[in-house]
Amino acid sequence: MKKRLIFVNVILVSISIVVLFLFSVSLIMADNSETTENQINNYMSLVTNYYDGMNEEETISYFSSSINDFRITIFDADFNIIIDTLVDVDSGDYRPELDDLGTVYTRYSNNLDRNMVYMATKDDGNFIRISMEVSQINSFISTYFEVGVGLLIVIIILSAVAAIHLAERTLKPISNVVAKLAVIGETTVKLDKYDEYELSKQIDAINYQIGSKLIEIEKEKQKINDIIESTKESIVVVNSQGNIELINQNALDLFKLLKENAIDQSYFVLLQSNEVIKLITQSLNDKVFAKSVINIDSSFYEVNLIEVKKLWIEGVLITLNDITLDYNLGKIKREFFQNASHELKSPLTAIVGYQQLIQEGIYSTKEEILDGVTDTIREAKRMNNIIIDMLDISRLESNIQHEIVELNIKDVINEVYKSLGPQILRKDIKVSMDVVDKIIEVNNYHIFELIKNILENAIKYNINGGKINIKLTDLSLTIEDTGIGIEETNVDRIFERFYRVNNSKDSVDGGTGLGLSIVKHVCNLYDYNIQVISTFGVGTTFIITF
Ligand code: ADP
Repeated sequence: MKKRLIFVNVILVSISIVVLFLFSVSLIMADNSETTENQINNYMSLVTNYYDGMNEEETISYFSSSINDFRITIFDADFNIIIDTLVDVDSGDYRPELDDLGTVYTRYSNNLDRNMVYMATKDDGNFIRISMEVSQINSFISTYFEVGVGLLIVIIILSAVAAIHLAERTLKPISNVVAKLAVIGETTVKLDKYDEYELSKQIDAINYQIGSKLIEIEKEKQKINDIIESTKESIVVVNSQGNIELINQNALDLFKLLKENAIDQSYFVLLQSNEVIKLITQSLNDKVFAKSVINIDSSFYEVNLIEVKKLWIEGVLITLNDITLDYNLGKIKREFFQNASHELKSPLTAIVGYQQLIQEGIYSTKEEILDGVTDTIREAKRMNNIIIDMLDISRLESNIQHEIVELNIKDVINEVYKSLGPQILRKDIKVSMDVVDKIIEVNNYHIFELIKNILENAIKYNINGGKINIKLTDLSLTIEDTGIGIEETNVDRIFERFYRVNNSKDSVDGGTGLGLSIVKHVCNLYDYNIQVISTFGVGTTFIITF
């Protein structure tokens, strides 16, 4: 840039000076030729006045003594030189001034061996010619020209020096800028080289750096955004002025808001929960950053308020964690243990009772004692069954990875049927089977428990000599019995833990009320559909659709 600036400056100055100089030279030359012409004309009229056609000698000597630098030649009518102030011999040159009288001619004189200016006129039959040396006429012009050219060179040199100096001074700040740009652009620069190329190089480098930095920033922003949006928590950030700075989609959904109606708005837009508004007010006004459990739309949330004092914000960060599932699970577990202890307490009380009767001698006969022992064993078995079923449920609910294998349900049905053989025999139940080969991917224990609990109930709640029909198709498993049936009002509740229909409590085998909740749990695990069709006093059908 510097070189170009200097070059352009010098060229401009040079052109303008040269133009000015040539213009002045041409003006001077024009003026000079006019002056010469006038001078020659004046002298011509003096000479013609003095010359009378005879007095050549006299005329020459008169004008030679009075006027310097002029040559006077007198020709006769045949163009022969009569007399000349400078030469005696006729060179025989062609003299156009004698043909074109009164016009000034500039031409080379062989006689004098130099350029001369001529003008002639006819007077008294002869030609009078006045001439003047060109060098004399142009001496001023040539002096002017020489001095002018000298001055021109000096001016051009001076202007170049001034331009360099000026350019350096003007571009010095640019060099600093370029150096700073180089730091930003993470490139190197020679500080004495701040030409156009260097500047554009730096700008290119910065452009590149800014571009890649912007991509990085965008990536970081995206990362943070992805994290905020993918977290299961609802997040809200409120600044110290009480305006929402940040809110993720979960929070927008929870508070039923649109982003544009939340960002930069007062936290009072979180209308969905007065408790949250109260907690934020507390934290902003009293600097109390609480942690509590609140309720929104029948769900439970653990709310955390954390003070934020960062460069980008000063305020409070609110996170809401949906703990409804844990909360409900805890509730279910509490209820389960209450029920379990209650269910275990009854057989235990019975056992203790029978033993006391024996111990205190109230049961004294052999038969009475045998009855007491039989009852004790039955209640102990019931306790054992409750504990086994509870263990089954806790195994099902645990997060242990259950081994999944390919199984033929037909084989599992046969296995269960075999294990329940004695009970079937005892009640003289006729079992008919219509089963196909059906391969499923399932945990062996799960499918065994599912079939066992339904079939066991079909035996348990059947009449003596009743029937059970087992049907397995590619789509479903149906177990139909001719038992006591379930009243319509109870059908929906039989899958609840420890729920037992009153009339079934008298059944000989007794039950735990946990069997069908195990069945339901397995169905949920594998997304099977379970349907119960029952007619009180007629029978019950369980249909499982895979
Ligand atoms: P239980 O150990 O009492 O059998 P379940 O959870 O297996 O517990 O069953 C819950 C209740 O559903 C039973 O007490 C019984 O009243 C009723 N029930 C289940 N299966 C049948 C059936 N096949 N016929 C009649 N009632 C049934």
